[in-house]
Amino acid sequence: MEIIDGKALAKNVRENLKQEVENLKKEGIIPKFAVILVGSDKASQIYVKNKNKASEELGIEYEEVLLGEETKMSELLEKIDELNNRNDIHGILLQSPIPKHLDINKAFKRILPSKDIDGFNPENVGKLCLNQDTFVSCTPYGIMKMFEAYNIPLEGKHAVIIGRSNIVGKPMALSLLNKNATVTICHSKTKNLKEITSNADILVSAIGKKHFVTADMVKQGAVVIDVGINRTEDGIFGDVDFENVKEKASYITPVPGGVGPMTVAMLMNNVVKSAKMKKLEM
Ligand code: NAD
Repeated sequence: MEIIDGKALAKNVRENLKQEVENLKKEGIIPKFAVILVGSDKASQIYVKNKNKASEELGIEYEEVLLGEETKMSELLEKIDELNNRNDIHGILLQSPIPKHLDINKAFKRILPSKDIDGFNPENVGKLCLNQDTFVSCTPYGIMKMFEAYNIPLEGKHAVIIGRSNIVGKPMALSLLNKNATVTICHSKTKNLKEITSNADILVSAIGKKHFVTADMVKQGAVVIDVGINRTEDGIFGDVDFENVKEKASYITPVPGGVGPMTVAMLMNNVVKSAKMKKLEM
């Protein structure tokens, strides 16, 4: 069994990116993104802080756009338009969740596909579906990089994903399908879940329930990827009962130190990718 070291992989990605940022700067391009935070969600504030810290380390610039809880949809769209039109901004992030009275899908759609570093714009999701080059949601993108780094074969493998969110489950399924895996998506209405997961060569869990995936749900030798982040008084836990599942897995990601660090690294990767695309236009 091998533990996939997301922290070390992410460090590697960041080192390469740092060099790319320096090269871009020599050519007069400073990679920069804007992050829009609406309201005062505590977890969002932590995520934004992490993203900003990661960008500072790489020499990537960022701008925080803080909007109040009472922001109107028209004001949010106006702000997005303003950032879409600015030449110095290569990427726009809208941190979710946003207050309930606002339509997040409408907002994601408004972000220019070429600045959509989160990969949430329907045009970019469509491109992923068509297996075309695009910005891919950072969590599944980071997981695909993990498979690559550890030479984990995907073609013809049975990949089972638990969770069908737009941010993780669906783009994960499409990414694996694009690499010729045979993909099954499970969700809260799935029947006989254990029967399906027990057949998985690759099992990705993105549910949000501490220790939901137990050893009896896992095939001997499976690759187990734990996306879950479950904060409890005793600390942060994944969806997978790591201690018991690791005895059966061939590869497994820990929480923390697995998928999480790669997600942030891939976001930085997407900012640099967008800045490089801008360079090609010049
Ligand atoms: P979500 O709440 O949008 O989706 C959860 C999914 O789990 C749903 O599709 C639901 O159908 C499924 N589900 C719930 N109960 C189930 C059950 N009993 N059986 C089978 N399926 C069930 O969540 P999300 O945004 O996809 O996030 C999932 C988890 O991943 C959360 O813990 C979140 O914090 C974490 N996450 C981590 C990262 C990272 O970088 N590591 C990034 C995004 C999300």
